Amino acid sequence: MDTLNADEQEIVSLVARFVDREVRPVARPLEHDNAYPESLIEQMKSLGVFGLTVPAPYGEYHVSAACYALVTEELARGWMSLAGAFGGHSVVCHLISRFGTDEQRSRYLPRLATGGLRATMALTEPGGGSDLQAMRTVARPCDGGWSVSGAKTWISNARHCGLIALLCLTDAQSRPAHQGVSILLVEPGPGLTISRDLPKLGYKGVESCELSFDEMPVPGNALLGVSPATGSPR
Ligand SMILES: Cc1cc2nc3c(=O)[nH]c(=O)nc-3n(C[C@H](O)[C@H](O)[C@H](O)COP(=O)(O)OP(=O)(O)OC[C@H]3O[C@@H](n4cnc5c(N)ncnc54)[C@H](O)[C@@H]3O)c2cc1C
Repeated sequence: MDTLNADEQEIVSLVARFVDREVRPVARPLEHDNAYPESLIEQMKSLGVFGLTVPAPYGEYHVSAACYALVTEELARGWMSLAGAFGGHSVVCHLISRFGTDEQRSRYLPRLATGGLRATMALTEPGGGSDLQAMRTVARPCDGGWSVSGAKTWISNARHCGLIALLCLTDAQSRPAHQGVSILLVEPGPGLTISRDLPKLGYKGVESCELSFDEMPVPGNALLGVSPATGSPR
């Protein structure tokens, strides 16, 4: 806490008070009922936590990594599922802030900052998670963009998000394999099926799903950090 400035200390204290008053009294029943914490997520939107990794001019309160870690710790103290819904979303905000084109930032960051649009990241596949170079999900160039086919698993918050940062192969022949890996900013639509909610022993409430992509059309401007006009990174 000592390394945080006064505003950041107040943000952490605000989240701590929210956890004590609103989260801890209901976490146990929500966990046992495997109930999505709609009301708590709405309160997190009001507190502004979904924008903590979004810089100006798109967000209001961009915080340091230390402050972000303490907010995560507070949420997890109340209920890990809230930290889970916050974590994947925040990583996607950071990816777009840091690597996105200006057009991608303006399109997504203002709504991500309020939590009006929420995001998840999809890396893991049924064949394994740690070895990302072994992934099979592929985006093939087609008229006006990409055609995505493959499967992802254990994707948190998949039914409640409007944006997926999808790790996939855009050049399956590339060696080393990681040079052919990209991130597409995918909005749920035709060609994407959220096929199953995986059962869990804990960390319930927020769903973990299987995703199936069947030649899903994705526009060319969805490739993170690449402008379709030039085909080159921003
Ligand atoms: C509740 C939950 C939510 C999740 N949410 C998401 C999400 O939102 N998005 C997402 O993309 N993924 C998500 N995941 C997936 C998670 O990221 C993966 O489980 C993780 O990456 C590990 O992959 P794996 O389970 O396939 O295990 P594997 O990669 O098969 O690993 C199995 C074991 O082998 C070990 N191992 C692997 N490779 C090596 C190596 N080279 N050397 C030594 N040991 C090794 C691992 O440490 C592990 O103990 C979630 C998982 C859970 C359980």
